[in-house]
Amino acid sequence: MQTIDNYNFAGKKAFVRVDFNVPLDENFNITDDTRMVKALPTLKKILADGGSLIIGSHLGRPKKGPEDKFSLRHIVAHLSELLGTEVKFVDDCVGDKVKAAAAALKPGEVLLLENLRFHAEEEGKPRGLAEDASDEEKAAAKKAIKASQKEFTKELASLADVYVNDAFGTAHRAHASTALMAEYFTPENKMFGYLMGKEVAAVNKVMKEMVRPFTAIMGGSKVSSKIDIIENLLTKVDNLIIAGGMTYTFTKALGGKIGNSICEDDKLDLALELIEKAKANHVNLVLAVDAKIADDFSNDAHTDFCDVDKIPDGWEGMDIGPKSEALFADVIKKSKTILWNGPTGVFEFDNFTSGSRAVAEAIVEATKNGAFSLVGGGDSVACVNKFGLADQVSYVSTGGGALLEAIEGKVLPGIAAIQG
Ligand code: AMP
Repeated sequence: MQTIDNYNFAGKKAFVRVDFNVPLDENFNITDDTRMVKALPTLKKILADGGSLIIGSHLGRPKKGPEDKFSLRHIVAHLSELLGTEVKFVDDCVGDKVKAAAAALKPGEVLLLENLRFHAEEEGKPRGLAEDASDEEKAAAKKAIKASQKEFTKELASLADVYVNDAFGTAHRAHASTALMAEYFTPENKMFGYLMGKEVAAVNKVMKEMVRPFTAIMGGSKVSSKIDIIENLLTKVDNLIIAGGMTYTFTKALGGKIGNSICEDDKLDLALELIEKAKANHVNLVLAVDAKIADDFSNDAHTDFCDVDKIPDGWEGMDIGPKSEALFADVIKKSKTILWNGPTGVFEFDNFTSGSRAVAEAIVEATKNGAFSLVGGGDSVACVNKFGLADQVSYVSTGGGALLEAIEGKVLPGIAAIQG
């Protein structure tokens, strides 16, 4: 497989798919440029080699064609600043003016294309179908968009000599620019950018090349949103720690009293099945033994601690208690590979962060002792950032949904398109 380090971009036009889906305020100022900063090593390497850049991204979720609030023109000035060079902008991503702008690019020059999702072809889903459209109409619209997506993809690919995908955040989408256009480049002319390469390597270290013991900590609110992940992890891990709101579905399924705690009553059987699966796979399933409880879902509620299966009526579990913190930390500290997804409690309220902090600190200690730790998929990233510990774990994924699909064991189209 081609790598960005081995490639000399001198004289080449590189199409780089980035994830510049940055948050903007009401005056279109960027409020967090992390995603742009993360792509800089790739962009700068190409320019330093003497290549030119054609940068493609999406911004937001436009569903009806061009809309100014989703225009990438809002980020041009900041990108110029970050790259230290003028960024040219073209207000479309296909068509004659785009072809002309790309053709005129000289080594060291940068062209940013307009939001790829202004065209329905990027995602390949029909738009504007009437709600009462018949099945035939839906099928015809689907067929039509697939045909025009092919032309759109070909045209994007024709702009460049080489394709670089640095957008891990959209790697789980089989969109024109994230996966399909790779087909138009030979294996030596398509590759991951640095960010994407790091994300893929981190996922592989955990899911394929894990050093044992391997511990996953799954938190968050609902079992239902994590079933596929838990099922897949039960075939890989040595220890599976279940935390967060989903604890109480397990506790209730086992006959415990959970008061007003969050619970999915239709998932009680599933919880018991997962417990049986863990046994069958010789996985040490670690459930909380105590809880920090509150008499209201609020930061200022009265609080107390109790056994996880003896929560009084009118109270709810908002975080794990100190015994569970010690239990989880002990397992984590003995691990050599660690995956953390989802907080142990309602970490948004300062009075219920203790469990998540204890998990984060145990991961940091294990990492210092040589473990590989991957934190990702939403709120656990917010946790390590909140605790100022993000730089003390091995890798914090930028991936969100893409990371979750990867740990579900799915093949991500954006990765497969390059790896073959
Ligand atoms: P998820 O998006 O599934 O990872 O869930 C993250 C959310 O789970 C966060 O907003 C937490 O506040 C919430 N959460 C964690 N523990 C609990 C709990 N014990 N009760 C209610 N919500 C919780």
